Amino acid sequence: MRFARAGEDQSGEVRLADLTRLADVLVSDAGMVSYRIRGGMSAGRPILKLDVDTAVMLVCQSCLESYQQEMRISRVFPVARDEKQLGLWERDDPLLDALVADPELDVLMLVEDEILLSLPVVPRHAEGECGQAGF
Ligand SMILES: [Zn+2]
Repeated sequence: MRFARAGEDQSGEVRLADLTRLADVLVSDAGMVSYRIRGGMSAGRPILKLDVDTAVMLVCQSCLESYQQEMRISRVFPVARDEKQLGLWERDDPLLDALVADPELDVLMLVEDEILLSLPVVPRHAEGECGQAGF
């Protein structure tokens, strides 16, 4: 909460191999994930802004070749004081994706969750690149 209000800024890198739930669904766990998390205020609420930048190996469901999928994720999470406040916010906006303030917030878990949520449901080469050998 203080992190959000003070507009603090934390960034780092983690190996894909260390995000085990994610590594399980990838063709290769080689590679790195860069992330940045910043605090701030929006509409009177403390927020955390998360940016994730990585590239993962997936299997194209058209040609069954593996390919590299670039991922740039940018998310903003309002931060509720406690579960009660979160409940009130979610009653107003059932789709709200908010966090509860937690001094022990696991940034890496959040990063991993967001990558998992952002993986394509049906991975495919970009248009025009399918079925072509090499890069
Ligand atoms: Zn393909």
